[in-house]
Amino acid sequence: MGKLLRVNLTTRVCCDESLPDERTLKLYVGGWGLGLRMLSDMLPLGIHPHDPENLLIMLTGPLTATSVPAATNLTVTTLNAETGFTAGRSHTHGWFGPMLKFAGYDGVVIEGASKTPVYLAIQEHGGTIASADNLWGLDTHETGEALKAEFPGTSTSVMAIGPAGENLCAGAIAANDKNHSCSHSGIGSIMGSKKLKAIVVQGGSHQVHIADPERFKSVAAEWKAGLFDEQGTLRVDVGRAGVPRGEYKWLKEKVGLVGYNFQTAEMEEFGKGMGEQDITVQPCWQCPIACSYDVKIKDGPYAGHVATLCGGGENLEGAGSILGVTDAGSVFYLTDLCDRLGIETSVAGCSLGVAFEAFEKGLLSEKDTDGLVLEWGNAEVIETCLRKMAHREGFGAVLADGIRSAGQRVGLPESAVHLKGASINLHDWRAVWGMFLGQVTGGGSGWPAPGADYRREPNIGIMEATARFDPSIKPKEVRDGGMFKFGYADTLGAGWFAYWNIPHAAEWAAHALSALTGQVYTVDEIFDVGEREMNLERVFSIVRGHTPEDDKAIPEKLLQAPDNGPAKGVSIRPYIDGMIDDYYVAMGWDKKTSKPLRSTLRRLQLDEEIVTLWGREE
Ligand code: SF4
Repeated sequence: MGKLLRVNLTTRVCCDESLPDERTLKLYVGGWGLGLRMLSDMLPLGIHPHDPENLLIMLTGPLTATSVPAATNLTVTTLNAETGFTAGRSHTHGWFGPMLKFAGYDGVVIEGASKTPVYLAIQEHGGTIASADNLWGLDTHETGEALKAEFPGTSTSVMAIGPAGENLCAGAIAANDKNHSCSHSGIGSIMGSKKLKAIVVQGGSHQVHIADPERFKSVAAEWKAGLFDEQGTLRVDVGRAGVPRGEYKWLKEKVGLVGYNFQTAEMEEFGKGMGEQDITVQPCWQCPIACSYDVKIKDGPYAGHVATLCGGGENLEGAGSILGVTDAGSVFYLTDLCDRLGIETSVAGCSLGVAFEAFEKGLLSEKDTDGLVLEWGNAEVIETCLRKMAHREGFGAVLADGIRSAGQRVGLPESAVHLKGASINLHDWRAVWGMFLGQVTGGGSGWPAPGADYRREPNIGIMEATARFDPSIKPKEVRDGGMFKFGYADTLGAGWFAYWNIPHAAEWAAHALSALTGQVYTVDEIFDVGEREMNLERVFSIVRGHTPEDDKAIPEKLLQAPDNGPAKGVSIRPYIDGMIDDYYVAMGWDKKTSKPLRSTLRRLQLDEEIVTLWGREE
């Protein structure tokens, strides 16, 4: 039986407690599933995300720190600081999750708030809370280095907030191990509201208990081999620092990028020169995919700077293309700066994007911007703006309360691109309607349930990418994709890249979980876990005020047909309300209210939620 560390920052008490009972573990497993169950049970109604009563539930999954691929997932579940009413979900990788396991803990539950800055240290003998007065004001890297000096050794991992989290900025992140972070749901500002500057974990001698080690070893080896095709090429597109090496061509062709605050989906220069920089792959703990990387900038104004980045391209678009920056070195530098200041690039990029557009349209002048000329592509001005935002200084304070607020305050609310107040993952999802539907019906927590818009989804039985603009097929794809992503990648402990586009990954995961626990988990049971999570998430939000109108309140820019890119001339506007209705029906939810039906909740053993939504049956 595993254990959790329970931390009360108000009373400064840390104590061990057992994981929930076996039935709960069977139904929710770990990570996002178990975190959501615990949050639903423990979080009071009527609180603000920055109130001391909000919880940070940090959970690994049973497969974290094992020999399956990408076994590094740690999920934070909380009341979402970006929306205020949905469940926040944020995943990180690197070393933090595995080291937590090696310290003997499956997770940490943090409640209360300190009056003065503190950090939490977790070691094999338990948790301790110490003053962080000397760390307050440092950026995420500086904080990590200071605490690593205090807790030396290769088994130390630090998660820290930067100035953005300290100043309760929208989009604040908690960054760990330089290349990783909990980027979504405002985890950094919630830590800031608790005056929790950092968490240090020191791994010890604990190992994950595996009921059938031989079987587990063989499944893990098969799974790892399955990541590569017959030619030995990694099937995962984002692996091996894939985006910079590919100069962004793949994403530009398949999806389209976000340029000039969604005013263009094509920027020919963006991506050029990225692959020519000095890139060093930085894999997470024992991960064969290795999608994270350091990049030493070779030329231009930031030559010599080393940016430490995660894989994927959303961060590069948030710090670069959305503000018109194309110079490769500048894009890497600004992305890295956001990580160090502790602010998510998509929130920062969309908030700045609407300000830059307002300046272009004459709604703002230098009088409003502390003398700054908000000129698209000017990295120096963007750097100044980011620093001002993170410190809530002058014009930066106008932009620091989120994208919606920024749009209103610069006089251009119709150009602010957010969903329920939260940022979207920054690619141009107007070209991929499954992902679009997943984003708008999600809880504002980043990477949603995907459809099969631009690649196959073999684990949900889709062997070829489907028609990207067909509104009739996307609702079911998003339902099935959601059950797969949330049940497997967000819950078991191995990250999404170990599953996405990998045939048989669901089977291997089910076999690995069975070998580890000594209980039988079928593929379908884990899909059920995902479906249970999607329903519980909806109930969580509904009782806090979520209505279908929130899903259908889509920014005008996302409804317009782009002038270029893969969705040139195509708009989802005539179809999206019907797609949302069809998604509710596919989920077994009431079409009018989006409430999960009694029969759906009963099938998923969500009996308490039946009473919550529908009352007791006569
Ligand atoms: S896939 Fe990437 S983020 Fe995930 S564990 Fe591997 S290197 Fe880390």
